[in-house]
Formats: sequence, C-alpha cells, structure tokens
Amino acid sequence: MDFSRKLMVPPDKQIKLAKFDPADTLGYQNDKKIEAKLNKTIKRLDQLQDLLYAEKKRALLIVLQGMDAAGKDGTIRHVMSGVSPQGCSVKSFKVPNSQELAHDFLWRIHKAIPERGMIGIFNRSHYEDVLVVRVHKLVPKEVWKARYDEINRFERNLEENDVKILKFFLHISREEQEKRFQERLHDPRKKWKFSKSDAAERKLWDDYGTAYEAVLSRCSTEYAPWFIIPSDHKWLRNLAISRIIAETLEEFDMHYPKSPESS
Ligand code: ADP
Repeated sequence: MDFSRKLMVPPDKQIKLAKFDPADTLGYQNDKKIEAKLNKTIKRLDQLQDLLYAEKKRALLIVLQGMDAAGKDGTIRHVMSGVSPQGCSVKSFKVPNSQELAHDFLWRIHKAIPERGMIGIFNRSHYEDVLVVRVHKLVPKEVWKARYDEINRFERNLEENDVKILKFFLHISREEQEKRFQERLHDPRKKWKFSKSDAAERKLWDDYGTAYEAVLSRCSTEYAPWFIIPSDHKWLRNLAISRIIAETLEEFDMHYPKSPESS
C-alpha cells in the first residue's frame, strides 16, 4: 500500500476529524508479518538516512503533533530506532521563554530547522502557535488567524531551500487518551509523564479538535503535506509513519557521491 497517498490530507480540503477513525488498521492485523514489515522499514530508513547524509543535498523535517498522550515520544523512539544518531536531531517545543516571546513566533522554529543531510524531528512545533495559543486565547484572534498564511509561506520558503517537510497528526480517540492517562497514573515508570494540566487540557478536547481541523484544512500543501495517522493502535501508527518517511526518501532518488570532489 502507498501509505503517503492513503493518509495525506489533500490541499484545501475541509477536514472533519469525526470522519477519521483513530482505531483504523487500514486492513492490516498486528501479526508477525506486520512486525517483519515494520522491522524491514526501520532498517531501510537507516540506509536512506545514510544516503541523505552522504549526499547532503536536502534536509528532511518531520513534524509531530497530537493531543496529550497521542504518542509523539513513542513514535520518535520506535520509528527512529534504527537510524544513526549522527544524522538525526530531535527538538521539543515547550512554552516559549521570554527571549523567544520577544521575537516573531517562527524565530525559534527557524533556528531548529535541520541542515542538509539531516533528519530533524519536531516534537510539537510552530503549529502550537495556532493550537494551544488559539485554544487558550494567548494572543488576539487577528494575530493567530494571520498565522496560517504565515506558516504556509514559511514552509514554502523552506521547501525552496531543500527542506522536505512531512507533518503527522497523531489521531487518537478520547477513550484511548483516557486509557493512556490511567496507565500513566498507575505505572511508576510512566507516572512522571502525567501532569495536572493534562487533565485540564482534556476538558478542552473539542476546542483542540476545532483548532486541529483548521490546521489540517488550511496548512496541508503539496510542498508540506499533513498526514492524519490513526494512532489508537501504536503498531499501526509506527508502521504508517515509518512507511511514509521511507516512501518520501525513496522518491529523492539519492546516490552516493562518487568521490569527495564531486560531493
Ligand atoms: P510534552 O507534553 O510535549 O511532552 P510538556 O508537558 O513540557 O511536554 O508540554 C509542553 C507544553 O508547551 C505544552 O502544553 C504545549 O502546548 C506548550 N507549548 C508549546 N509551544 C507553545 C507555544 N508556542 N505557546 C504556548 N505554549 C506552548
């Protein structure tokens, strides 16, 4: 299956998340065969990343967004498990500090864009500036409303400068989120991950849903597409994301430089 085509949000399509099943398995079953397919893809990602690093012609930026407990950390751990740390960077975006707030919202983002040859992963991103910021009314409406176009322009500029962008929305159901919160509360190894604010954010589930729908409807473009990843099943989430990254890198048609001079 061509996961990219199947899960990509077409540009300018109005998205209603209720129409997307977070527990979708795309016809697959979590069996030995699918485990082998995932392992094969993860190995392939290592080869492709090595080529990307050798060529140094382009960078790949992977944006991960989703509700709390959607699995951003787990995705990074699994999908990138086979890739050399040398060619890969992870950046988590938290509440902006005073210096960051004194700049335009894209300033801290631009500084973290991976260089050519690298895969950069954003755990949260500039999209927080139209998600949490919108939901909590942290800036006036005119300000966040203008950001969708600003983001599209910014991403186009990156694409024109050899940064390929893939954006993944990890789509989980409310029930699955509740299940994962309960697990966190009861597992001593996971308890630290649970914060009181997670419970408060959960009450804003519908508001976040609306904010995500706006992002997916307005900011999925040919040059920087969004993908809606059914994420209630972690195995399907890992398979889909690793396949989409591999499919994208395959399309680059990369080759090892013949000699140091020609690189
Ligand atoms: P995570 O949940 O990603 O593991 P944290 O619990 O530290 O990590 O949460 C980071 C917090 O920072 C989130 O609540 C997120 O909404 C917030 N955040 C990120 N970017 C911004 C932003 N631009 N403005 C306000 N809050 C932000």
